[in-house]
Amino acid sequence: MQDSTVIDWITKDNILIFNWLIIMAPVSVIDYIIVHELCHLKYPNHSENFWKEVAVFCLDFQKRRDWLRIRGLELSF
Ligand SMILES: [Zn+2]
Repeated sequence: MQDSTVIDWITKDNILIFNWLIIMAPVSVIDYIIVHELCHLKYPNHSENFWKEVAVFCLDFQKRRDWLRIRGLELSF
């Protein structure tokens, strides 16, 4: 349930699937993507509570999220 690019998703059985292209992102962004998806297991939305949960594990998530929005489409081979 990524909000900016189609690089990951959660199946109805709560299996997290990541596009292999994320390995070309900075490690801090990869961490954010994983935290983002794990938090969706608790909050299947982008509510205020969801973002508070993301911030617990990734305090500067906004910076990493911005990187993904600006440069995420550059992730290709
Ligand atoms: Zn999301």
